[in-house]
Amino acid sequence: MNWEVVIGLEVHCQINTKTKAFCGCSTAFGSEPNTQTCPVCLGMPGQLPVLNTLAVDKTILTGLAIGAQINLESKFDRKNYFYPDLPKGYQITQFTVPLVEHGYIDITTKDRGDRRIGITRIHMEEDAGKSMHEGLDAVSHIDLNRSGIPLMEIVSEPDMRSSDEAIAYLKNLHQVIRFLGVSGADMEKGQFRCDANVSVRHPGDEFGTRTEMKNMNSFRFIKQAIDYEVMRQIEVIEDGGEVVQESRLWDSVKNESRSMRSKEEANDYRYFPEPDLPPLRVSQLEVDNIKAGMPELPHQLRARFETEFGLSAYDADVLTQTRELSDWYEALVAAHPADPKRCANWMANELLGRLKELNKNIEDSPVSPNQFGELMDRMGDNTISGKIAKDVLDAMLESGKSADAIIDEKGLKQVSDTGAIDAMILEIMAANQGQVDAYRGGKDKLFGFFVGQVMKASKGKANPGMVNQRLKELLKG
Ligand code: ADP
Ligand code: MG
Ligand code: ZN
Repeated sequence: MNWEVVIGLEVHCQINTKTKAFCGCSTAFGSEPNTQTCPVCLGMPGQLPVLNTLAVDKTILTGLAIGAQINLESKFDRKNYFYPDLPKGYQITQFTVPLVEHGYIDITTKDRGDRRIGITRIHMEEDAGKSMHEGLDAVSHIDLNRSGIPLMEIVSEPDMRSSDEAIAYLKNLHQVIRFLGVSGADMEKGQFRCDANVSVRHPGDEFGTRTEMKNMNSFRFIKQAIDYEVMRQIEVIEDGGEVVQESRLWDSVKNESRSMRSKEEANDYRYFPEPDLPPLRVSQLEVDNIKAGMPELPHQLRARFETEFGLSAYDADVLTQTRELSDWYEALVAAHPADPKRCANWMANELLGRLKELNKNIEDSPVSPNQFGELMDRMGDNTISGKIAKDVLDAMLESGKSADAIIDEKGLKQVSDTGAIDAMILEIMAANQGQVDAYRGGKDKLFGFFVGQVMKASKGKANPGMVNQRLKELLKG
């Protein structure tokens, strides 16, 4: 039977302010438990929250980057529930009027091409503390350092139709957030985590009942969880059952999900307006100022790399994956502008491939943009061939020496002198008289054999263009 998958995603993203959302405590990651707390984020009675306006600015910047509307007046609400990691007994969030509404992220996938995924809203809220169970026997500990760290909750429309689209959306959103510098968005540190809402239906029908997989922080697990849930729901329906609306937990060890709580047992959050905070008002002028400071976004950078440097869509995409990559490339072509396409190609394919093997990011590359540019120039001025350049790059990464030093030391300079090349060719021809006769008798295919022999005799150092040209001449006889 023909099933259509429907997915909507909720992303919780920590905002990277130095201090928490409503108090002056540090947000630094990895400190000793409960060393970054105060009466406000510990939920002591009678304490008053003071809003961190930098967190507001960063949420507005994110809203502008996704083409959304900024509500000049929004408000905070209390979401009441009991949980050990929530000492106040409620979370301050934005329920009825969020700061940001009606944005989008564009994605491209193989199956459906270019799609626009709607973003319903981004609201501000505070993170909860963390329960710790690992390595403890029959007890749990609570660390409240995370309590009160500012969050953006980014809620998508149910616009995605496959796990591939969901991952494409998440990766693009993640990339935008990293480029904006509004969050570390480190998924392993829980700074960017996702709830996936999934349902299935027959095309054209109303939306089916959805389930929600909570709190996942790896693209791979999110994809596995969605695919598993789709199969589970289809099986339930095809067996004559009904999907129940519930929250489920993905177990990445067992590769299966299990029910956490159904909608019937779901919390009644008893939302009401937060009495300790005034409505959040921002002026159009403030919004305009934030907009004026907007950095170049990944899709803009990609387009500029294609037009300004003539890069292929593929290379432009690879080199704009992170701000660090695009900065490195721009430093490279600024210092060595002769051949930006060659630079891009070699950076994307040769350098990044080798760094990956070394388990290094571009920021930790042992070869600097300037050193890499010198290597590109030595190919450009025919000092070395591309084949030799790969060996030189290996040696550069290993030794940290410059391209010129390695070329000198190992005697790798390309032979471009006609006399020397002719001498090699004549020697090869003399040693292979049979092949020469066959070639002259019409076996054109043998040309490659001669090229190979000459390149081998020169240990790869003969200028390939000249070898081709001189061979044609001399083989004519
Ligand atoms: P809640 O507050 O209970 O989580 P929302 O209406 O805010 O509910 O929706 C949360 C998410 O669920 C949104 O991302 C939305 O796009 C998605 N969603 C809503 N209905 C469906 C559905 N039928 N199938 C899949 N996703 C859905
Ligand atoms: Mg939800
Ligand atoms: Zn505090």
